[in-house]
Amino acid sequence: MRINRTLQCDLLVVGSGLAGLRAAYDASVAGLRVILASKGRLCSGASFYPLTGALGSQLPKDNADKPFYLEELLDSGDGIADRELCKILVDEIGAEIARLPELGIPTRDASGRPACFAKRERRLAIWSDWDAIRTRVNQVFSLFPNLTVIPFSEIQRLVIREGCVAGALLVDSLSEFVLVEASAVLLASGGYCGLYRHSLNTDDVCGMGHSIALDAGVGLINLEFMQFIPGLTAPVYKLLFGEISLWHCKDVVDDQGEQVLQKRLPPDVSFERCIRERSMHGPFTTRDDSRYFDLAMMEQCRASRSPNSFTIHYQPSIATDSNQLVDHVRRMYQERGIDLSTQSISIAPFAHCANGGIWIDGHGNTAIPGLFAAGEVAGGIHGADRHGGVATAACLVFGSRAARASISYIRQHASVGVSEAEVMADFTRWIDNKACSVVTAMDVLQQLGESLWYDANVIRTGSVLAENLAWVRRMRGLYNPARAIEAGDDIKQALKAFHALRVADALFSAMIHRTESRGPHYRTDFPLRDASITGARVVVSEDQGQISARYVYPKGQ
Ligand SMILES: Cc1cc2nc3c(=O)[nH]c(=O)nc-3n(C[C@H](O)[C@H](O)[C@H](O)COP(=O)(O)OP(=O)(O)OC[C@H]3O[C@@H](n4cnc5c(N)ncnc54)[C@H](O)[C@@H]3O)c2cc1C
Repeated sequence: MRINRTLQCDLLVVGSGLAGLRAAYDASVAGLRVILASKGRLCSGASFYPLTGALGSQLPKDNADKPFYLEELLDSGDGIADRELCKILVDEIGAEIARLPELGIPTRDASGRPACFAKRERRLAIWSDWDAIRTRVNQVFSLFPNLTVIPFSEIQRLVIREGCVAGALLVDSLSEFVLVEASAVLLASGGYCGLYRHSLNTDDVCGMGHSIALDAGVGLINLEFMQFIPGLTAPVYKLLFGEISLWHCKDVVDDQGEQVLQKRLPPDVSFERCIRERSMHGPFTTRDDSRYFDLAMMEQCRASRSPNSFTIHYQPSIATDSNQLVDHVRRMYQERGIDLSTQSISIAPFAHCANGGIWIDGHGNTAIPGLFAAGEVAGGIHGADRHGGVATAACLVFGSRAARASISYIRQHASVGVSEAEVMADFTRWIDNKACSVVTAMDVLQQLGESLWYDANVIRTGSVLAENLAWVRRMRGLYNPARAIEAGDDIKQALKAFHALRVADALFSAMIHRTESRGPHYRTDFPLRDASITGARVVVSEDQGQISARYVYPKGQ
């Protein structure tokens, strides 16, 4: 393994989803020499998930609505959302949406009902048509001679000199190593849901940014709070469910036609009430009676060891409901040849979005000078449950803020030269744990995907999480990416598996550490919310290769 070429820039932006696009554009306008490296093509990640019609951001209706919006975010966050960061988001999202068209993303307003977990209906700015957006973003970016886009190129490790970021090592589209010397790096590499066997994400959303930050000594916060949304397993795999369709749900049965929800409901919760509450928000939460729906779905999947055993039958009335949202879901299905009034669908909880990540402040700073983070890879803003339309808002507001902070950082910090030989030698030592086993990247990623999906989903149990963590740690000792590459494994897959194991170690550690149920984190062995730890965040860090989790109470909260 050797470095094939070295590139220089002021700012390396990692990831070309919404957060990376925002940051790369702003830094380019400021005249910095920018490299935008992306594992997927330009405009990829969750921001451009092919099987969703549109994305949206929730905006305050007007200035008077801002305090209500803020309090609602904190309420859904249940002691975990950061007041200062949420206030920034509420105050600045309007201006950021107004700036989106200059990036090639025109928006329009939509309405229908309050966003998931919101109490009031507010402005929802939406955008769609990924191919058209990609073409326009390409056109906009081509106007900047100081911006270089390198798609299909993956950051593998940061280069740190004297405690500050000095660049990064990448593997490019030809699977060759590239050293990027940079004064600052801005991670916008998205979440980690793509590691799950069933996720509503593309494969490039696989937590590599989290692994790289951990290795550099940066903490990860709130990892246990993730969103799971029902997705289809049949007849069309990976299609979003559209919970509003539950207004017309007739029955929920297993593959033998037996009732699977009714028998699991407590006596004081009716089928109708559970279904009605479940129709009000996409993600799973423990905070209302809708939880029995998701828990039944997962229990069913775990019992049958299959994601195809929770089937919804609809009433014929779904064909004639004139509600705008029901109509939208009906049409989404019709476009894929499914008529909900006559056909049933099977659903399961798909990993959808991370609410936590690399711990940032209000300017996207991390604990390492010169390392910034924004978008779904970043954590600390959102709480346990997150409103719909706020993940994209965070990408835009904090993508823009992190770009500004990196611009002023770069103006005060000249880049330092680094030696190719030293960087490569360090990297080789890092990935070569001397294990001689023949475990392949495919083995690691497949087994990990299953174990995350079955055991770190909406149902979590301490002893089962601990078994999984023990397996992950064993694999970290057994799996040697350097050996796998020598044996002919694809270099990117081999390194993806290496990072995936570190992220899974962090994720299981966080889930084990939170010994209560709150928001989307449900523990069968601690089924109740523990008021005595309200406000405590789980922070995961790595020291000398060992990952550990602890509770942290941020100052002033
Ligand atoms: C189906 C779906 C619908 C959603 N709907 C909404 C919604 O309506 N409103 C809302 O607020 N949120 C929504 N979300 C969540 C929201 O879309 C995401 O949180 C947000 O788009 C993430 O943007 P991002 O830029 O942080 O990351 P992503 O868009 O995921 O982009 C990550 C980028 O990083 C790249 N990358 C990854 N690893 C590396 C590496 N090692 N080196 C280089 N590049 C790398 C990827 O290729 C990609 O380009 C939805 C999510 C999904 C999946």
